[in-house]
Amino acid sequence: MSVAVPYTDIHEIIPNVRGKIEFDAPLSKLTWFRTGGNADVLFTPEDENDLSEFLKSIPSAIPVMPLGVGSNMLIRDGGIEGIVIRFGKNFSSVILEGSFIKAFAGAPDISVARKALDAGLTGFEFLRGVPGTIGGAIKMNAGAYGSEIRDIFYSARAVDRDGNIHQINKDNIEFSYRHTNVPNDYIFMEATFEGKFGDPDLIRKRMKEIGDQREESQPLRTRTGGSTFKNPSGHSAWKLIEGAGCRGLKIGGARVSKKHCNFLINEGDATAKDIEDLGDEVRRRVMNNSGVKLDWEIKRIGRRR
Ligand SMILES: Cc1cc2nc3c(=O)[nH]c(=O)nc-3n(C[C@H](O)[C@H](O)[C@H](O)COP(=O)(O)OP(=O)(O)OC[C@H]3O[C@@H](n4cnc5c(N)ncnc54)[C@H](O)[C@@H]3O)c2cc1C
Repeated sequence: MSVAVPYTDIHEIIPNVRGKIEFDAPLSKLTWFRTGGNADVLFTPEDENDLSEFLKSIPSAIPVMPLGVGSNMLIRDGGIEGIVIRFGKNFSSVILEGSFIKAFAGAPDISVARKALDAGLTGFEFLRGVPGTIGGAIKMNAGAYGSEIRDIFYSARAVDRDGNIHQINKDNIEFSYRHTNVPNDYIFMEATFEGKFGDPDLIRKRMKEIGDQREESQPLRTRTGGSTFKNPSGHSAWKLIEGAGCRGLKIGGARVSKKHCNFLINEGDATAKDIEDLGDEVRRRVMNNSGVKLDWEIKRIGRRR
């Protein structure tokens, strides 16, 4: 639902920052689906302090949303109201500290997996297969092949909507399936993960297996948002979708992947509406066929046009 924002021109309320501000910024090129509208404002902070001061100064009614690489997100065609925060190269470091790895919010998950491999640390192999950033991985409790963020999480730093910084330790955060219980307005800025020393050859072998399995089973080189629906308890979403005859189903420029039918694909000219309509049609058909409700895993965000 759209929030009433008490300003007439967003230019007027944006403070001086050290990072980068862009108005009416296209987001489609920043997401895996390569579709969707513009952000009223896109802010790439210079550092933690820049972000905190920025959040303190903008009116609290203005919506703020962090964006990773949009690998789990469908941005609607009308774009995003308010401010989108993106973490650039200043937030991409991955640092080894003994058996711990500290990673900033914008670091690609695969960089963390590679750092762990170089250090002979095990527990991080699954991140080889998740194509997002560390910020998005914590928010979504990303997981694959029986492991998830919960298993390696040690601590994190987050900033809230008012610019206050919070330290989160593993004892005061709860993870569940593709979810964490931190307040919705928390934006993760960095995190520390704990691994165990293991055999580098086995770690390398496991990462290769994960890469190969992904390649074989998922449409990786397409414009997609990953798994579209959560697995309902006791079911596989893809089996329900297959059973309802939806493999290859198409609406406009969007299609249910033939390779993995829990993936939706932008075949080139899909609008976000095509993709969302296709997902809703799949949900309808699965409900009619099996009586099971599919819940979206992909975050659908923004204004409808
Ligand atoms: C081909 C493919 C394969 C995939 N395989 C898997 C898989 O095996 N396992 C899995 O779990 N996921 C998988 N995904 C989904 C996706 O990669 C994960 O959910 C990933 O963690 C999202 O990271 P992101 O940085 O792209 O986040 P985005 O998609 O940009 O954002 C996702 C959510 O996180 C929030 N967010 C982003 N950054 C921050 C931050 N710094 N602080 C707070 N909130 C933030 C956003 O606001 C949004 O709500 C796959 C996706 C694709 C395209």
